[in-house]
Amino acid sequence: MKIIDKVYVNGEFIKPYGTKVMNIINPDTLKILGEVTLCNKKDVNYAVKCAKNAFVSFSQTSVEERGEILQSLYEAMSKREDELNEAALLEYGSPITATKGRTKFAKNTFLVAKKQMEEFKFSSRLEDGTKILKTPIGVVAAIAPWNANYTHICQKTAFAIAAGCSIVMKPSEYSAIQTQILCECFKDANLPKGVFNVVNGIGEEVGRYLARHKDISLINFTGSTKVGREISAYAAKMIKRTILELGGKSPNIILDDANLDVAVPMALTIAFSNSGQACHAGSRLLIPYDKLEKVSELLLKALKNIKIGDIRDEECYIGPLINQVQFDRVQSYIKCGVDEGAVLLAGGLGKLEGLDGYYAKPTIFIDVKPNMKIAKEEIFGPVLSVLTYKNEREAIKMANDTVYGLAGYVSSLDIKRANKVASQITAGWVYINKAVYSGKSLVPHVGAKQSGIGINDIDDYTQFRIIS
Ligand code: NAD
Repeated sequence: MKIIDKVYVNGEFIKPYGTKVMNIINPDTLKILGEVTLCNKKDVNYAVKCAKNAFVSFSQTSVEERGEILQSLYEAMSKREDELNEAALLEYGSPITATKGRTKFAKNTFLVAKKQMEEFKFSSRLEDGTKILKTPIGVVAAIAPWNANYTHICQKTAFAIAAGCSIVMKPSEYSAIQTQILCECFKDANLPKGVFNVVNGIGEEVGRYLARHKDISLINFTGSTKVGREISAYAAKMIKRTILELGGKSPNIILDDANLDVAVPMALTIAFSNSGQACHAGSRLLIPYDKLEKVSELLLKALKNIKIGDIRDEECYIGPLINQVQFDRVQSYIKCGVDEGAVLLAGGLGKLEGLDGYYAKPTIFIDVKPNMKIAKEEIFGPVLSVLTYKNEREAIKMANDTVYGLAGYVSSLDIKRANKVASQITAGWVYINKAVYSGKSLVPHVGAKQSGIGINDIDDYTQFRIIS
């Protein structure tokens, strides 16, 4: 049993004021892994106070000093990479290959932020001597979801530190063990006291209170569009800056000249990425109407090749959903799809047989119409909705017929044509003939429409100060 009864605040693990305790359940086995003590508003006040005190000196540190900190955060995480992976495997149920990839990605963000910081123009001068400064914005409230705990915590922390800001982090209450080990790494990295502070707790209580706190200058939120809207509303009232990384219902267009043998299996991996719990999942597959039969056949074949359940198997692609609430949510959408008249090609209601955890059946709906809920709303589970289009123009129109704009995918043998289609999809990132970005460059992660505002880079954590 892992008992997490302390939180990392002001450089120390301290007992929180909050006393409520929540069980931590392994979503793969449903066994209780441990318990976490949840913080309350008093804990938020203390953490913000510590972050505010730390900001006074931390905002004055040099690029070299912050570079050393970022480097040591990277090294501290590297030393405990195996433990971090094990915690994500147990607490989140993410298959091992994806888990390892995400931990690596997370620790690398410290180096990415360091490089960006070294190239960033923190000050410049006009001809008349006027100084244009980009100064750290202040104390950041960072609120993160459970679907990639290390990635979200490290990304937010890395760029805040690079800019010279201090942070109060409210991770998901479903990631307490992962957060605890990460905090131990941060402590080992000798982060200056109060620069990074954590409050574990329930979103509606601790998250809401933190984001509304008067001493917070920037709210960096990753999570659902529903909560993002609420945060936007009070940020507007208090004129606070926000970075919002929100939900998606991303379209994947297979054009009529695409190689279906490649594009269709890839469409399944895009839809079921992170067990379907991925913000960028291509959960709407748009195909030419006369290819439905062939695509259906290939989807079923591809589904047979997807390994589910043995999350320690390097080949495993789908693990359990995070918790009962998420399982029930996915079930309600599957039921809704059936009730609305979509046709089940695979999967359906109920748990996957032979597995103990929160395993929904990987589900594929065909004959999905654009006005159905399963075509419009983010499900956040392994459920793919297949829609048909008559021509390219209709495909683009259907792709954009959503309040979201996080990602998009296009498959075609004609790269020029694919680019032309991609340029008409309103989304932060459109992938051509691929499922993920595998390059090494620093690319901003952005969302369009109700999928988000701002990018997680140094610029977003700074504000202008002009001295003349
Ligand atoms: P969520 O919005 O329910 O919760 C996210 C975080 O906000 C959690 O820490 C939660 O405790 C907290 N929270 C909940 N209610 C709050 C409130 N009223 N005020 C302040 N904080 C509150 O989302 P989730 O279920 O944890 O995560 C899934 C969602 O996150 C999906 O919609 C997914 O698309 C989105 N997401 C987006 C990105 C991106 O980069 N765009 C990345 C990952 C996840």
